[in-house]
Amino acid sequence: ELILQYQPQRTLDGMLSGLEVLLVWEHPRHGRIPPNVFIPLAEESGMIVSIGSWVLNHACLQAREWVDAGYPPVKIAVNVSPLQFGRSDLVKTVSGALEASGLDPKLLELELTESVIMHNAEESMERMSRIRTLGVGIAIDDFGTGYSSLSYLRSLPVNTVKIDQSFLREIDAPGGAMALVGTIVSLAHQMGLSVVAEGVESQEQLEMLRGAGCDKGQGNLFGEPVAPERVHELLAQLITME
Ligand code: C2E
Ligand code: MG
Ligand code: MG
Repeated sequence: ELILQYQPQRTLDGMLSGLEVLLVWEHPRHGRIPPNVFIPLAEESGMIVSIGSWVLNHACLQAREWVDAGYPPVKIAVNVSPLQFGRSDLVKTVSGALEASGLDPKLLELELTESVIMHNAEESMERMSRIRTLGVGIAIDDFGTGYSSLSYLRSLPVNTVKIDQSFLREIDAPGGAMALVGTIVSLAHQMGLSVVAEGVESQEQLEMLRGAGCDKGQGNLFGEPVAPERVHELLAQLITME
């Protein structure tokens, strides 16, 4: 009943650059249950550990299929929950998924939220470094909603920052978050990080993000999450663009 959907991440001129893997529960009686509802429960019961490793393995195999089908390589981004990240065997799970699928580690990025990283900061740092050593990328998800400071970012072995969608919602309001977004982008760039804006829904937001120098966006304007069959269409567009 668990299925994976893929949401495009694009450069601001529309080129596909990545796919975020989003878990959906298709319940036979209750219909589609969104991750915000069942993931906290899976986290509480500990089931998220086995679900999370299934997601990782399944998504890597899927991505490898797309590579084998001859499409240009596109990175996949997999969300990692607090409990999953706290496990000492996480690095083994990640390398196992890469080995089993034969996926190039450069095509995998893990998304971690600030709170996950801040919890037990020293151990987190070590674990993140080991993941980066595998060649896998790390993105800070929902950036700006936690308590970490921009300067703290500098010390983290991450390569991508995802600006939380709450900033976008307010971006064009008077006294809105535009200045904040601009600041996050410029600091992130100084640290050599790539910036993805989450929840891009309107042309106005896109224009603002262009003005702020943001690298990439994800959101309904760029494409909703789709089933793997539909990903073929997205990847095929890349070939015609070449
Ligand atoms: P997230 O990682 O921040 O994922 C982005 C969420 O924003 C997704 O919600 C996506 O559907 C939604 N979104 C994308 N574009 C737009 C837009 O234009 N407007 C609005 N309003 N929303 C947009 P979704 O799929 O409901 O996932 C919610 C959260 O559940 C994710 O937030 C992530 O934290 C978690 N999650 C999803 N899949 C997994 C998974 O496999 N493992 C773990 N541990 N967590 C997951
Ligand atoms: Mg995410
Ligand atoms: Mg997010």
